[in-house]
Amino acid sequence: MSKEMMQLAARNLKKAVPLMLKHQIPTTPTNYALWYTYVSEQMPELNLRLDTIIEQHKTCPPTNSELLYREFVSDPVEVDVLDMRQNLEAMATELAHSLKDTNLDVTQFQRRIDSNFDKLNRIEEEGVSLEKVLGVVRGLVKESDEIRSSTQYFTGQLSKAQQEIEALKRQLEKSEQIVLYDALTSIFNRRAFDNDLKGTLSQSPDGLCLILIDIDHFKAFNDNYGHLLGDQVLKAVAKRLQEACRDGAKLYRYGGEEFAVLVPNSQLSSARHLAEAMRRGLEKVSLKDRRKDVRINKITASFGVAQWNKNLKSTEIIEIADKLLYQAKRLGRNRVMPIPG
Ligand code: GH3
Ligand code: MG
Ligand code: MG
Repeated sequence: MSKEMMQLAARNLKKAVPLMLKHQIPTTPTNYALWYTYVSEQMPELNLRLDTIIEQHKTCPPTNSELLYREFVSDPVEVDVLDMRQNLEAMATELAHSLKDTNLDVTQFQRRIDSNFDKLNRIEEEGVSLEKVLGVVRGLVKESDEIRSSTQYFTGQLSKAQQEIEALKRQLEKSEQIVLYDALTSIFNRRAFDNDLKGTLSQSPDGLCLILIDIDHFKAFNDNYGHLLGDQVLKAVAKRLQEACRDGAKLYRYGGEEFAVLVPNSQLSSARHLAEAMRRGLEKVSLKDRRKDVRINKITASFGVAQWNKNLKSTEIIEIADKLLYQAKRLGRNRVMPIPG
């Protein structure tokens, strides 16, 4: 096939498609071949018959197409496959470019394009009929369209989903904060403590210590100055204890006027030191009750410190610390137990 013939073939193909669209002809291989032959004007008889049918029906019904195809076209027509492939490749490249912006699955598209070119290769080897080549063209165009629209839909869905995920994440973070923080003191709550203790112990930590803290005679603050001032004391104590936390030590409101500290990677002696620093820090807390114009500056607490070992369950380390705390109370409060030995 000469170069002129190739160009002619490509031109005819480009002419055939708009005509088919105009007359609402389904894009089947048969119809492609039929209309390709029509625009090539090689068979005046075919053109005459098709024109008449179009005039009558405003389209070409499938049965008429089938008959015309058998009568005029069904002989294999030689087409230059190389040229055809170049055209298709250009088309595919363009398509791939236009799709790139849409954040799509290019690999999937590429795979389908490749399979179409494979078919084209086989046609080239096995001898070619226009029908077969047009079948491939049709398949490629259809799949490209499908991929393009499904990709656009998918991309839209994806960014919508991403937005929803972001919103959910923010919501979740917020509710997690509500669930894990104490509303009055803004430090972690008992639920966070239970989570953290279980989580930490499941990793068999080296040198995890627990400090339990209970404010001394706290009930007296409530009784003498009212519950609201009691709340102020709790906030001030939490703030001071928090300020003392270093090296990964984490403070929790364990109960009403009780606090807990998880101290990772520490020996009992260093955890005791931390507790001692906290105890002294609390002695310096001072706050004013405006309504009664009195200053509260005798806040103390008692401390029990325990170190975890492999043989202890999470409840057992709490029991040990709690017992030591109770000893501290009994021995006169405002102290850390055990005494260094
Ligand atoms: P001890 O030195 O033996 O620990 O004496 P205590 O008075 O501190 O201990 P007790 O357990 O008798 O009293 C604790 C009080 O803490 C009782 C409770 O009303 C009060 N309380 C618990 N939670 C809150 C709170 O959120 N706000 C206020 N204002 N009081 C609280
Ligand atoms: Mg108590
Ligand atoms: Mg108390």
